[in-house]
Amino acid sequence: MTAADPPRDRPSLLGDCVHCGFCLPTCPTYVLWGEEMDSPRGRIHLMAQREEGAPLSPEMAGHFDACLGCMACVTACPSGVQYDRLIEMTRAEVEAEHPRPLREKLLREAVFRLFPYRRRLRAVRGPLRLYQRSGLPALVRRSGVLERISPSLAAMERLAPPLGPAPRLPERVAARGTRRATVGMLTGCVQGEFFPGVNAATARVLALEGCDVVIPRDQGCCGALSLHSGRAEEAAAFARATIAAFEAVDVVVVNSAGCGSSMKDYADVLADDPAWARRAAALSAKTRDFAEFVDELGPRAERHPLPVTVAYHDACHLSHAQKIRSQPRRLLAGIPELAVREIADPDVCCGSAGTYNLFQPEAAARLGDRKAGSVRATDAELLVAANPGCSMQIATALRRQGADIAVAHTAQVLDASLRGLGRGALVGSDSSTDN
Ligand code: SF4
Ligand code: SF4
Repeated sequence: MTAADPPRDRPSLLGDCVHCGFCLPTCPTYVLWGEEMDSPRGRIHLMAQREEGAPLSPEMAGHFDACLGCMACVTACPSGVQYDRLIEMTRAEVEAEHPRPLREKLLREAVFRLFPYRRRLRAVRGPLRLYQRSGLPALVRRSGVLERISPSLAAMERLAPPLGPAPRLPERVAARGTRRATVGMLTGCVQGEFFPGVNAATARVLALEGCDVVIPRDQGCCGALSLHSGRAEEAAAFARATIAAFEAVDVVVVNSAGCGSSMKDYADVLADDPAWARRAAALSAKTRDFAEFVDELGPRAERHPLPVTVAYHDACHLSHAQKIRSQPRRLLAGIPELAVREIADPDVCCGSAGTYNLFQPEAAARLGDRKAGSVRATDAELLVAANPGCSMQIATALRRQGADIAVAHTAQVLDASLRGLGRGALVGSDSSTDN
């Protein structure tokens, strides 16, 4: 669908499905459980039942909740079924109508009141860093105490990446040499607080490639977590604030797949808001993923050799939602002496999927283990991923399996090459790619 197409309602979207089942083998929940109702076709069938007046039963809500929203089915579907729109509409219905148990409600509230707010995340960062530097994590994990209190809490503890210092970026980073472009940069919530090194590398690469980088201080959450969880009004409010923060620039570069994908969807999110629809469409049109933008721009800065073997992971919100697959591979392949290996079943989600690994920790861990196994089979020294959720999810699974494979963002690999830092910056004991 393009911004010019009129929005379609659910019955019309449901009518596109011919029930062929081509989507089933790429659906992670179908792969895990082999249950029709946990496949795209099964969920579409349940949505159709709802249209015919069936009540939203807890079982039905469970099948919708179990969907990762990974969009592998959208890529696989030969009939062009817009499952992404369908699940978004259905999740909003689940949020409005499905009474969740108190414990689950509290957990969801805590997650949605923490993760989309940078200042709150920053407040948590310090104590979490202290905790990580104490001997407590090993003790807590061995005792299983968090697992007994709440598997979601235990998942959160395991997923948090090792935190270092988090220097703040300036509001403007000047282009090196002749300026080729001026771009805005989204710093993100989880990316900004848990992976500040990715943002620093992104700004450096853009500047080295001749871009003035504008990093508005008043930017907040893009609304991705809310949008992908059926919290439509919250997502719309985050979208309006993000549009306003980036209105002065012609391009917004985003280094987190989930954020970029939701910003490209603003045109649909605010299509019915006459005061914002046009501004939303403009923001969507000027949003570029980091790899998409740098590839489009073309190389100018010298690439220094980086003798590292990397496995490139396709984040679902980059490959399925934004159709960006060749650009990051091209950027990596352009680095002398760097070898790119392909991961088997690249279309199957790693289990991160926004908040999925917090709310469905068991299924997410199984998918994480599958992905980590496929990464290990490549014999790569470094995993490259362009979404903070995927990085945390796969790094956790690799640690669980005792695999010594570092994880970095595409921007960090390019940064290491452009600055001639050598392989030690990415792999080995001196690497600094965690934060
Ligand atoms: S969603 Fe697409 S691939 Fe899946 S059953 Fe329907 S038509 Fe077939
Ligand atoms: S979005 Fe992913 S998990 Fe959900 S039905 Fe489609 S393939 Fe399955």
